[in-house]
Amino acid sequence: ITSRSPRPDTVRTTCGYCGVGCTLDVVVRDGSVAAVLPARDGPVNRGHACVKGRFSYGYLTSAERLTEPLVRQDGVLTPATWDQALDAVAAGLRAAMEQGGPDAVAAISSARATNEENYLVQKFLRTGIGTNNVDNCSRLCHAPSAAGLTAAFGRAGGTDSFDDVERADCLLVVGANPVEAHPVVGARLLSAALDGATLIVADPRNVGLARHADLHLRPRPGTNVALFHGLAHVLVAEGLIDQDFLAERATGLDELCTLLTDYPPERAAEITGVPAGDITAAARAYGRAARPAIVYGLGVTEHLHGTDGVRTLANLAVLRGAVGGTGHGYGISPLRGQNNVQGASDMGALPDLLPGYGPVTDPAARARAEAVWGQQVPRRPGLRIPDMFRSAREGRLRALWIIGEDVCATDPDSRQVAEALDACPMVVVSELFLGETARHADVVLPAASWLEKDGTFVNFDRRFQRVRPAVRPPGTARTDFDVVHAVARTMGADLGCPTPADALSECARLAPDFAGLSYDRLDREGAVPWPCPSPHRPGESTLYTREFATGDGRAHLSAAPYLPPGEVPDADYPLLLVTGRRWAHYNSGSMTRRGGNLLLDGQGRLDLHPLDAARHGVRDGAPVTVESRHGRARLIARVGSDTAPGQVFCAFHFPADGVNALTSPHADTATSCPEYKVTAVRLRPTA
Ligand code: SF4
Repeated sequence: ITSRSPRPDTVRTTCGYCGVGCTLDVVVRDGSVAAVLPARDGPVNRGHACVKGRFSYGYLTSAERLTEPLVRQDGVLTPATWDQALDAVAAGLRAAMEQGGPDAVAAISSARATNEENYLVQKFLRTGIGTNNVDNCSRLCHAPSAAGLTAAFGRAGGTDSFDDVERADCLLVVGANPVEAHPVVGARLLSAALDGATLIVADPRNVGLARHADLHLRPRPGTNVALFHGLAHVLVAEGLIDQDFLAERATGLDELCTLLTDYPPERAAEITGVPAGDITAAARAYGRAARPAIVYGLGVTEHLHGTDGVRTLANLAVLRGAVGGTGHGYGISPLRGQNNVQGASDMGALPDLLPGYGPVTDPAARARAEAVWGQQVPRRPGLRIPDMFRSAREGRLRALWIIGEDVCATDPDSRQVAEALDACPMVVVSELFLGETARHADVVLPAASWLEKDGTFVNFDRRFQRVRPAVRPPGTARTDFDVVHAVARTMGADLGCPTPADALSECARLAPDFAGLSYDRLDREGAVPWPCPSPHRPGESTLYTREFATGDGRAHLSAAPYLPPGEVPDADYPLLLVTGRRWAHYNSGSMTRRGGNLLLDGQGRLDLHPLDAARHGVRDGAPVTVESRHGRARLIARVGSDTAPGQVFCAFHFPADGVNALTSPHADTATSCPEYKVTAVRLRPTA
């Protein structure tokens, strides 16, 4: 592809909504966005874009955009100059450090921010403040992917490029609704299926892709691990495993085979509700295919045992020898939800990992960073996002900077999140709009959006791609990159790397997997996947062709047993709520609800099966009150058979509905990723 737009009045950039990473040409007239065109030579989108990337830019000029800083005075957020706001932030951070040391300060960085902004945020926390208390919103979605794929294969990313996945002759799509959440990838998957690939969809709901599937498995929410073990049982029992590959390149087979004796298809069927015959048929299709591939989404990760889910799903690819460039298949690929959820973690905006995934507890990894930064790196892992909120409620965390995340709308059990913010003496929020979270802030800093900034994103198949400013931010709004520098300077710290290009170059010096990356190269080549250890070699789109990146160079099978979810239906709360995305909107909807997309989809809805509607006296289109043990929400009922009996579904794009007041505080035992996919609820018609 070319890295530049073909027309002089357009700016080439990368979509800032989902993790597909479509290349877009933004048409600019008189300083405003006039249109967004999908680039025909975009490496992922090839001339396509969805309704979000293509049409949802009206928010840029919304009258509700924050255009000047706000500082709380006498309980009221009051317009202020940047100098006043920066002084207030610096004073709040200093006061927290005086009272509780560096660990009394924390920051939540963002998958919506660029790599360079994430890099700078974590560098500021680690070197300017002296704490590892930095995390990003991958904690809420794909932290189990990072942990699970690292444990299985050694690296925190998908194993193959999507160009390869598309060539698979059997696609196992699990816990994902790409037709709505990742439409361009959804279309490519559908097209592969129409071209003859066997399509197996495993999802409790009748998602768009399921309607075209050869087999649709509908496990009860929270039972993935049992399903994956049932599939693995059949692979082993019917000899559909690659013995040579397992002997040469994997460990843990004996332990796994012992465990799998407990999961014949009949037992897996009992736990999951998927008929044993379908489990067997799916395993045979995957096991007999010449080039199978696995694609999965948040339906695998957002569980009490989400990391076990990722690992036991990865077992299938290892058993089959369908990973590691073997020619026998295309591994396992997580569909990342947000534009830069991969990159935010790659850049080290994590409490336990430095840029490039070096553990903060590893002296060699710290030494690499210290050599580049010229400062010591704290060795104790910092707080994860849920622990930050807990710590604030307990009075230990005294300053929290939240960048580009509306945590009161998007995090589970939102009442407790709001309590944490109210208990924290200094809350700084960098945002486009005065959202739910900003209302609890002491200082609000107006931010630039993805169409107004320079940098890079990493998409779901590990491609670094350039982001370029098409228009200027409104009023005095600034990029997070500028603001982190400004806060650091106000506190007397110099973070170096004055431009985003410098930040990526500096990151490349300390993270071996990114050593070959630079803006010059990205501008020349358009997209470069990591690992990219040399400027003279292409990045590796297919991982592990020689050996896995684990300590012993082998893939590690997991023998984690099935354990039940945090909540199951009972007499008081007889239904299971699953939350997810819809096609026209993105996350909290702060951008997509301010533009034409609202006309396409303007209301939060609760999907429920006709049997449940009848049982609870709920009519299609009527208001319904949903209650969990954690809170209450009011939605409009949509009665249909997309959800199975006993389950209900709603999206989280309309914070006013209070969906995340319902969701439970249970979280993945390994990574603290919330169990958004399983909450026991009850409902009644709203009077
Ligand atoms: Fe592409 Fe995703 Fe943007 Fe849609 S939202 S245009 S699929 S990157």
